Amino acid sequence: MNANFLQTPIDYLKGVGPNRADLLKKELGIHTFQDLLNLFPNRYLDRTQYYKIGQLQQTNAEIQVIGKITHLKMVQQQRGKRLVATFTDETGSMELVWFRGHKWIKENLKINVPYVIFGKTNWFNGTFSMPHPDMELLEAHEKSIRSAMQPVYPSTEKLSNSGITNRVIGSLMQQVFLEAKKGFSESLSKPLLEQLKLLSKNDALFNIHFPKSQSLLARAQYRLKFEELFYIQLQLIRKNLLHKTKIKGYPFPVVGDHFNNFYNHHLPFELTDAQKRVIKEIRQDLGSHAQMNRLLQGDVGSGKTIVALLSMFIALDNGFQACLMAPTEILSVQHYNNIIELCNSLNTSVELLTGSTKTSKRKEIHEKLKNGSLDILIGTHALLEDSVAFKNLGLAIIDEQHRFGVAQRSKLWHKNEYPPHVLIMTATPIPRTLAMSVYGDLDISIIDELPPGRKDIKTVHRFDANRLKVFRFLKEEISKGRQVYIVYPLIQESEAMDYKDLMDGYESIVREFPLPRYQVSIVHGQMKPADKEYEMQRFVKGETQIMVATTVIEVGVDVPNASVMVIESAERFGLSQLHQLRGRVGRGAAQSYCILMSGHKLSADARTRLETMVRTNDGFEISEVDLKLRGPGDLMGTQQSGVLNLRIADIVKDSEILKIARTYALQVLKEDPNLEQPQHLPIKQTFAQLSKYKNIWNYIS
Ligand code: ADP
Ligand code: MG
Repeated sequence: MNANFLQTPIDYLKGVGPNRADLLKKELGIHTFQDLLNLFPNRYLDRTQYYKIGQLQQTNAEIQVIGKITHLKMVQQQRGKRLVATFTDETGSMELVWFRGHKWIKENLKINVPYVIFGKTNWFNGTFSMPHPDMELLEAHEKSIRSAMQPVYPSTEKLSNSGITNRVIGSLMQQVFLEAKKGFSESLSKPLLEQLKLLSKNDALFNIHFPKSQSLLARAQYRLKFEELFYIQLQLIRKNLLHKTKIKGYPFPVVGDHFNNFYNHHLPFELTDAQKRVIKEIRQDLGSHAQMNRLLQGDVGSGKTIVALLSMFIALDNGFQACLMAPTEILSVQHYNNIIELCNSLNTSVELLTGSTKTSKRKEIHEKLKNGSLDILIGTHALLEDSVAFKNLGLAIIDEQHRFGVAQRSKLWHKNEYPPHVLIMTATPIPRTLAMSVYGDLDISIIDELPPGRKDIKTVHRFDANRLKVFRFLKEEISKGRQVYIVYPLIQESEAMDYKDLMDGYESIVREFPLPRYQVSIVHGQMKPADKEYEMQRFVKGETQIMVATTVIEVGVDVPNASVMVIESAERFGLSQLHQLRGRVGRGAAQSYCILMSGHKLSADARTRLETMVRTNDGFEISEVDLKLRGPGDLMGTQQSGVLNLRIADIVKDSEILKIARTYALQVLKEDPNLEQPQHLPIKQTFAQLSKYKNIWNYIS
């Protein structure tokens, strides 16, 4: 079967006139035979089982029964009439009910002739009844070639109102199969089919639409899901490989004084194995002639900063400059302070550039950047301003990529003759399967190990009614010299209310923790930056014991002495936000705590979120739960939702298949990067088709 057949406009299918063609296009996006074939059923009705009336349970499930109609009567009711048939088998009897179409039914129904009926049953007045059953004479039923599992296709109200029912879609589908006499060409290679014991394309398509059995249906679904994910992975991996051959980067062959001196004499601690592994991965990238494009994932506190610094040293060792960009001023300042401290006794020049850098300082930085006397520049979006020109930027590190658009990233690239190597760091763990799908064209490094000696943060969930106990606990901790965060939600839609809650909360805290024994800081978005900074600093210096805040502290603040995080109305926060907030404590030596406060009324999802937080500190595990609760679209934002718009596979439920598909896609491209070997011909052809008919395959810019 050639591709032309599949691309035949749907108008040419027998049974599809201009009206139907129009509706199919508008309502289901079906333009071609192929589109119709790819309309996969949402679910299947099980018609393998026949029930006896005596066995029926009050489950409301769809069931199938063989029996005869013994009586037919019209029953007058408040509005209109209903037609009621008594339907009997050897074990008992039930009722069939019609509210419409009485005339046709009365004229066509046969009394005392065996029928197969199918539908949902209701239990009413001591009898089972089935409204508007699907009926077929037993004799015809036995003769027709039918699938055991009856597909139910996606539909819309407009379609069913225009008579394009499920049955009609089914018969159109049958028509396509009839016309495709020789069947459909295979789209996977023989070795793949054999190794994975996959159904052929023909069998898979047939059984997805007309399943012969449960097990064939399962295999058909598996094969089609695999195929869908395989081609996405193939596309992403190929893009990554092409990128590596096409986009040259400055090779950094030297690991020299900057790196070695620091590594051998100034490392403040032994690196974890995960940190060492990641640095090795980065070194390999930087040593090659391709531009590095790497995503570094590591939970809060996993030690990404030192990895960033060591990578920057490699750039310096090769005569290049490096920059580190963070999403907020607070974060940039913190990075700057950390790195200045680490570089304390070295002669590395490091500067900070943010929106609040003074003009004179700014000029100085611009000058030093241009003449190459500045090694490392740290800052916010200010780094992207046109006036910022590096002499030779070799490595750009971007922290918390979620907050930067891709466009901004590419802007950084074009500051230079050749693109610098790019390392993106994120503390928001992305489930591996999602990362594979969305960032499949980036290389990914993961720090999955916390520095040694770090104690797990103890997390508890407390109801508002237990507030006094919580206060008592806070006092104990403060008396040990510790500090406490109390965080309130601030959601845009309910901003006014939330500010009121925050202020009420602050007042009650001040009452409970009075001067002069206690000092309480407050920080929120409506304060002037200078006041905010002043309050922050008081807390950082340990002058205040309690910091009442909105989520502005989510990113960045680093106060190792703070050991308790209280999150008010915790049920209103998302999982990743809760996890980020909790990451503000547990940075020092003391045992740290996170207390999630909530009301008694909790939705099922909120309960799951709180339970997950109490159960685990593992960011990846939390992100998996988040993915299940919110779905991939919400998790990644609309930006990448195209990638997640799959026809049959589900990134959450089919993560195992995704892993297998990725492994095999990698294997195929490793063996045969240009798909030139004869056994890969089907893959090459399908791949070419996919790139030609751009639909969902074209999601990443
Ligand atoms: P991240 O940016 O990944 O959240 P940081 O780089 O800020 O984490 O590191 C968190 C803390 O852990 C810092 O105080 C840092 O000095 C410390 N740290 C990092 N790596 C190690 C290590 N291997 N051993 C001990 N402490 C470490
Ligand atoms: Mg960090």
